Amino acid sequence: MRLALAALAALCALPAARPVRAQEVALTFDDLPAHSALPRGETRVGVARAILKALREAKAPAFGFVNGVQTEREPGSDQVLSLWRAAGHPLGNHTWSHLRLTADSAEAFETDIVRNEPLLEARMGQADWRWFRYPYLAEGETPEVRARARAFLKARGYRIASVTLDFADWAYNEPYARCRDKGDAAAVAALEARYLASAAEGLDRARAQSHRLYGRDIPYVLLMHLGAFDARMVPRLLALYRSKGVRFVSLPEAQADPFYRSDVEITPTAEPLTLEAEARRRGIEPAPAPAIADLAELCR
Ligand SMILES: [Zn+2]
Repeated sequence: MRLALAALAALCALPAARPVRAQEVALTFDDLPAHSALPRGETRVGVARAILKALREAKAPAFGFVNGVQTEREPGSDQVLSLWRAAGHPLGNHTWSHLRLTADSAEAFETDIVRNEPLLEARMGQADWRWFRYPYLAEGETPEVRARARAFLKARGYRIASVTLDFADWAYNEPYARCRDKGDAAAVAALEARYLASAAEGLDRARAQSHRLYGRDIPYVLLMHLGAFDARMVPRLLALYRSKGVRFVSLPEAQADPFYRSDVEITPTAEPLTLEAEARRRGIEPAPAPAIADLAELCR
């Protein structure tokens, strides 16, 4: 009887004793040091400081992807890279000039990757900067172009930074700058609500897809940008994710999951590694991405 009771107690204790694995999200920020339009009076350094403060307060690691050309186009913006490194976050390669990979640009694409490397080497020292994020997430329209770029990246020791969580954060930065400059507080408030709702839906969508495909949460890699509206919203965004049970992990931690093997080892793939592509491969029509076309017309 005592044995049975002990067994019963052990059984009852089981659910609580089993470690509850939080959903893991790796934060990545593209287009450092300068992304999109700024409202009048705001600066690149101000944007970076706000995002770094929010990351520090949430104890969240983040990876930044650099286009070196911006340090020439906007002198002084390189201070963003200094602040980013001083905060302990790594930098990776996003090509020198944000070049889109196409059949016509395949050779220039490789030159543009190499051109960005001295800056990364100087900023990162001995730390690991050989992570690559494709501009526009464009990995090439043909198998030949894709294979060539992947072989090039692999030969230079890169891993590909995947994207498995994306709510089109970039699309808000230009309308935000316009609405702020017009003093349209109601439009800004509407943008805020929509950004957070879209982020919440994006996570739900990715989770549903992942559970349908794998019966579990893969660690998600979130695509963000270093923009003025992102800076305004990041504290609320991180709080939202935390309220939904998210734990923030580094990009290498997230991509240690077997889901990401083809991007980490850079093996040949038919299309970019996403949950949507995996779903389509299995004949599942993925949920549509949120519509954003109207944002381009806002506050014109
Ligand atoms: Zn970019």
